[in-house]
Amino acid sequence: MTDKPIREALDAAGRVPSEQDLDTLSRQLNRPVRDVVEIGARCVCGNPLVATTAPRLSSGIPFPTTYYLTHPVITAAVSRLEAAGLMGTMNERLGDDTALAAEYVLAHEAYLANRDAIGARSGTGEVPEITGVSAGGMPTRVKCLHVLVGHSLAAGEGVNPLGDEAIAQIAEWWTKDKCFCEGAWETTGQAPSQDRSRHVKTQEKVDPSVKRAERARKRAEREANEADQA
Ligand SMILES: [Zn+2]
Repeated sequence: MTDKPIREALDAAGRVPSEQDLDTLSRQLNRPVRDVVEIGARCVCGNPLVATTAPRLSSGIPFPTTYYLTHPVITAAVSRLEAAGLMGTMNERLGDDTALAAEYVLAHEAYLANRDAIGARSGTGEVPEITGVSAGGMPTRVKCLHVLVGHSLAAGEGVNPLGDEAIAQIAEWWTKDKCFCEGAWETTGQAPSQDRSRHVKTQEKVDPSVKRAERARKRAEREANEADQA
């Protein structure tokens, strides 16, 4: 773990999600949001850009992906970078450039430190199942640019080098200093309020090691119960 202070783009008051924020998030994603405990980053107009999810969902499931990019203009722009193959060149560079690789490890550690702080603030506490597991492919690979951009926006510039690069590369469609909200999502009528999906949607698949840890935990629980009953 790093000794560096935790960096977050928003102050404590700015992170608190209002009812209006939650309404906006569900409009941005076109589905109801659940388990959002904070806002990770905001547009200059105040609208959410990033939803922050606690490291354990209310269902009990460990959740490593803390920052979820919600603004449709940014998610679409980042998808264009992914479609253009940017992740492939980033992965090649991580293999060749030791300085970049080292910075990326620090970004991973910063992500984990932020998640611990969010877990403490939201009352989730420690989530041992996902200790050392961050998101987006960190610390060695790039598997989801949306995750890296979400981290960069929530932590502020200078924490995640590849997230920062991706933000610089979407400048044609979105920049931090301007509001791109108008017309980006449906603002009339009811916000989506009923969750019909059976699965929690994430911007990447949950890391297999998390699933394995979860299965092991359940097995241990079951065995403990059986032992109690015996
Ligand atoms: Zn805006």
